[in-house]
Amino acid sequence: MSDFTHLFGRPPAVAAHASGRVNLIGEHTDYNGGFVLPTAIPQRTEVFFAPRDDDRARVASTLSSDGQVQEYRVGQEQRRHEWLDYVQGLTWLLGREGHAVRGFEALIRSDVPLGVGLSSSAALSVSLLRALRQGFGLELSDVQIALLAQRNENEFVGARCGIMDPMAASLADQGTALFLDCRSLAYERVPLPPGADLVVLNSGISHKLAGQTIPGGDYNTRRAECERAAELLGVPQLRDLTAADLPRLEALPEPLNRRARHVLTENERVLQAVEAMRAGDRERLGELFYTSHASMRDDYQVSIPEIDLIVELARADSDVYGARLTGGGFGGSVVMLVHAGTGRPVAERIAAAYARQSGRSPAVLVPA
Ligand code: ADP
Ligand code: MG
Repeated sequence: MSDFTHLFGRPPAVAAHASGRVNLIGEHTDYNGGFVLPTAIPQRTEVFFAPRDDDRARVASTLSSDGQVQEYRVGQEQRRHEWLDYVQGLTWLLGREGHAVRGFEALIRSDVPLGVGLSSSAALSVSLLRALRQGFGLELSDVQIALLAQRNENEFVGARCGIMDPMAASLADQGTALFLDCRSLAYERVPLPPGADLVVLNSGISHKLAGQTIPGGDYNTRRAECERAAELLGVPQLRDLTAADLPRLEALPEPLNRRARHVLTENERVLQAVEAMRAGDRERLGELFYTSHASMRDDYQVSIPEIDLIVELARADSDVYGARLTGGGFGGSVVMLVHAGTGRPVAERIAAAYARQSGRSPAVLVPA
């Protein structure tokens, strides 16, 4: 890669990548031990990499504001509260786990948009781990890579991310959805339904910005609410609830009743979505997208008016089977299921109407 050679004066020894993901359904279920259904998107993060013989790590990202090479010493990682923490955390973790990691040069290039629910952070950690695995000959399975990527965010970067994003970055592909049980980590790849296209639209509002504007509106608050609801209901995790428990939720105080209802019904919707996909029932899958959106908007309260507007524009479009907020919310992106062959025109007309009505700058990510 010529930019790497230009920056570091030698060609890379290794090239690795990991894809962004779009979650079809199953939102905020992962940290409750439940089910999710993500699939890979064409946008991805690439890492060009060459090991060094000393402990110097020299890293640049085309997405960081200055594009300059940043440096640290492997074995002396220190949190800086910036993107380099994702890199430092991985060598810190690998060192603690007894893997032989030395210095290196790395150039990161990505077209996964940051902070809009498409999991750029997991794509970054997983692509780096793949480069480190290959560059230093580490013995790591794809599931171990996902677990390390999650620990990186939890223990070093300081973000309480669940297991869905790292598992999707490490194991999902395009064309199938990764039906994952987030408690046992059992997974199965389910083909996307024939006769339908996926559309993914970035609302142009990142969760970093929108999270501040919703009272109690952050991911950590929602996690704490779920833990409290599970405790009051006497179950280890909200995943342990079934439809038969719905009446019991009424006794919970607001907003814990809503939070638990979202998780319970969303988990059931994932199972129903898998059934619909297996049966090739596009209408049913689309309906589940809409119900999931309503649940995120009304019960989990993680949507924003701009995202609701995109979903309403989709609902008014006869080529759309279903649409919903995807990812953690507080801004982000919308995933839609549309009639086969109409993905591009549907995405463009909904993006144009949304831009006109909201004044925002959306981007069509799928179809790419
Ligand atoms: P999401 O994973 O939903 O896109 P996060 O807030 O979890 O949003 O992660 C976004 C952060 O990940 C960015 O602010 C940045 O620190 C880091 N990041 C992701 N991809 C890159 C990249 N290619 N280069 C530099 N930093 C990145
Ligand atoms: Mg992330």
